[in-house]
Amino acid sequence: MSEERSLNFLEQIVEEDITNGVNGGRVLTRFPPEPNGYLHIGHAKSICLNFGLAQKYNGQTNLRFDDTNPVTEETEYVESIKADIQWLGFQWANELYASDYFAQLYEFAVTLIKKGLAYVDDSTPSEIAALKGTPTEPGKNSPYRDRSVEENLQLFADMKAGKYPDGAKVLRAKVDMASPNMHLRDPLMYRIKHAHHHRTGDAWCIYPMYDFAHGQSDSIEHITHSICTLEFVPHRPLYDWFIEKLEIFPSHQYEFARLALNYTVTSKRKLLQLVNEGYVSGWDDPRMPTLSGYRRRGYTPSSIRTFAERVGVQKRDNLIDVGLLEFCIREELNKSANRVMAVMDPVKLVITNYPEGQTETLDAENNPEDESAGHRNVTFSNTLYIERDDFMENPPKKFFRLGPGLFVRLKYAYIIKCESFEKDAAGNVTTIYCTYLPESRSGGDTSGINVKGTIHWVSAAHAAKAEVRLYDRLFSVENPASEEGDFKSFVNPNSLKVVPEAYVEPSLLNVKAGDRFQFLRLGYFCADPDSTPDKPVFNRTVTLKDTWAKEKVKN
Ligand code: ATP
Ligand code: MG
Repeated sequence: MSEERSLNFLEQIVEEDITNGVNGGRVLTRFPPEPNGYLHIGHAKSICLNFGLAQKYNGQTNLRFDDTNPVTEETEYVESIKADIQWLGFQWANELYASDYFAQLYEFAVTLIKKGLAYVDDSTPSEIAALKGTPTEPGKNSPYRDRSVEENLQLFADMKAGKYPDGAKVLRAKVDMASPNMHLRDPLMYRIKHAHHHRTGDAWCIYPMYDFAHGQSDSIEHITHSICTLEFVPHRPLYDWFIEKLEIFPSHQYEFARLALNYTVTSKRKLLQLVNEGYVSGWDDPRMPTLSGYRRRGYTPSSIRTFAERVGVQKRDNLIDVGLLEFCIREELNKSANRVMAVMDPVKLVITNYPEGQTETLDAENNPEDESAGHRNVTFSNTLYIERDDFMENPPKKFFRLGPGLFVRLKYAYIIKCESFEKDAAGNVTTIYCTYLPESRSGGDTSGINVKGTIHWVSAAHAAKAEVRLYDRLFSVENPASEEGDFKSFVNPNSLKVVPEAYVEPSLLNVKAGDRFQFLRLGYFCADPDSTPDKPVFNRTVTLKDTWAKEKVKN
């Protein structure tokens, strides 16, 4: 983290509170995911912010599952969320569940009824909506608004006891039907839902609404700074109203801009559709903006933390360029990833003056950015594979690779000269014939010849086969969620290209899932869990350069 940057507005608030002795200088934040999907890059921003603030100010962070909606929540999601937070490098102080507060929240509701501040309403949803008014017109009081405290207590107890079907009654806060803030027009506190809950089972058939559960949960835990995204700004007066009327611990809510990335959707509901409708292979498909997707793609936790730090904390929504995230991983892998050679689209190259059957072990530096990464051996022979597009029959000027009569250096090895080539009936080049300069060996080159280009290669007899999955952005438009029509119609049809048989250095036969490499000249790659001992599978994490920036200039 850069130490020089100025404080963001949340850090300023926390520092002021500490200076003023608010809560005795104590800082307790929380991360409150609803366990209805896997965490995505937007959640990562929120996690880095909540845990980061607490770390910076000697505080703590609770992990609270916001599991008040029984229908959509599952234990699988709870487990994945915990694993993802830990992978990102954070540890919560307490693992808590809003559902553990159901009894306490019920008591809070009873307190408000007794104070004449909540009532049971028998209106149907459409009747409630009809009386709600509009942002410019005040609402009207419900005919049930003036029920007595005794009647409300009885009806609420009956709701809890299961006497009514779903939707027959709701509990509402008695605030102000004429408030200019629609959220204060007697908001719902409880609804009836005869549904099985992943933790409380069938103990409850009434469930608290977000606005009644969230702030009260913060207060129960004595959260000092409850940080959420901007769409909750209009909810803040209600957050404060409940706390004030209940006379409970005064947690405070602060809002920042949601993280939105271009060429990406960050909404669990939309990501779930991509999974369920088969656009991707699962929540951890390497194209998904989920933490499990990024992990499989080869992103490191630190690259995501760096990204979150560089995005900063904004008070206004804006779309962040996904290129910034790619920059963060590229910059890190440049320093940490070992270089290896892999050929995606092979064409055979024969060195006619190198003895057939002879081999030679060449010294290869693993990472020019990191001496401690050491060296490895690469085997050389007279028959190699190179990339098909490193050869051109009629090369233009300034093509510093192979073509008839052209010289090029083979990485870690020799300078070669193209003497001739063969084509098949369809016109495809099948074999390139070259000679090599024995005195041009890398590290001890006495040839005196200067070549501009260096290409990668593998020895045909020694190379291993690998599957390579080339990933690109999942959407072909900048802001798929804001386009008219189904966002899924903007899925990039070229977001995955599979190379079933690439040739790689044999050292890559021993990779473990998660091992990361730079394939020279091609990009950064990460071994996939689908790898087997005799056929590794690699995912392209990111290209070496931002190829999309070039596309944009061209267009
Ligand atoms: P989604 O719309 O994807 O379901 P959510 O906000 O409903 O997102 P929650 O599980 O309720 O998801 O979110 C947990 C926490 O993460 C909340 O505090 C929420 O504000 C925060 N969060 C979610 N998405 C983003 C985002 N894109 N940027 C920043 N914070 C986010
Ligand atoms: Mg939510």
